[in-house]
Amino acid sequence: MEEKPTKTFILKIYRGVPGNQYWEEFELELKPYLNITSALMEVQKNPINRKNEKVTPVAWEQGCLEEVCGSCSMLINGRPRQGCTALIHQLLEATGSNTVTIAPMTKFPLIKDLVVNREQMFANLKRIKAWIEVDDALDRGFGPKISPKVQEAMYVLSTCMTCGCCTEACPQINSHSKFVGPATISQVRLFNAHPVGKLMEGERLKPLIEEGGVSDCGNAQNCAAVCPKEIPLTESIALMGRKVVKQALKEMVSLPDAE
Ligand code: SF4
Ligand code: SF4
Repeated sequence: MEEKPTKTFILKIYRGVPGNQYWEEFELELKPYLNITSALMEVQKNPINRKNEKVTPVAWEQGCLEEVCGSCSMLINGRPRQGCTALIHQLLEATGSNTVTIAPMTKFPLIKDLVVNREQMFANLKRIKAWIEVDDALDRGFGPKISPKVQEAMYVLSTCMTCGCCTEACPQINSHSKFVGPATISQVRLFNAHPVGKLMEGERLKPLIEEGGVSDCGNAQNCAAVCPKEIPLTESIALMGRKVVKQALKEMVSLPDAE
């Protein structure tokens, strides 16, 4: 019996280091339910490009492999998303092409190949104090009650994995802008919704009042459209926008009279 020819596809990767990036193509066997991460592993096992040259394996980041850690974010066919949940057969079907392109996100400093530095997002989380203060002097009993409605709203906000897709899609963010971005704004909403977190509401809102805060949002709504966790980012931005105005007024009223 004649053997069926192996079905293949082209993985086209924008790789390199800052100042020297280039496209490189690899031809890989199309296995059922292959995702981008496993395709990159295939390249790692046998890093021979379409020109039949042996090259250095491609660098990329991965962690949980189940769209929870956000580390494998990249541009897949031009859209920011996670490599672990991007199935090759679906990507090929969607474009009707035999090629899938992958590239590093562009709004973060490039390290190498598909690896970027998302440190700024974590620095922003520190600025807004994205945690609940726990004072060990307190007797730890039941915490304050949170209504199921508030819990439900908080849950979806808590699924943010700092993946950077919203940052990548936001037209207001570039290497010169100070905008904290939609994920940070949404985390202010999350931590201020907690009864204990609320005690630091003013401190968390401060970075949203300052330059690079919530008023830098141009309302293009790209962020919510690409968020893999479907976090209602534009709703968070609108809500925090109103809170910021109230907070700014509060601070103005409590200012001592100028001499
Ligand atoms: S709505 Fe605001 S934060 Fe979201 S993409 Fe547009 S400008 Fe960026
Ligand atoms: S808000 Fe969504 S897109 Fe933005 S970092 Fe969090 S999970 Fe990623």
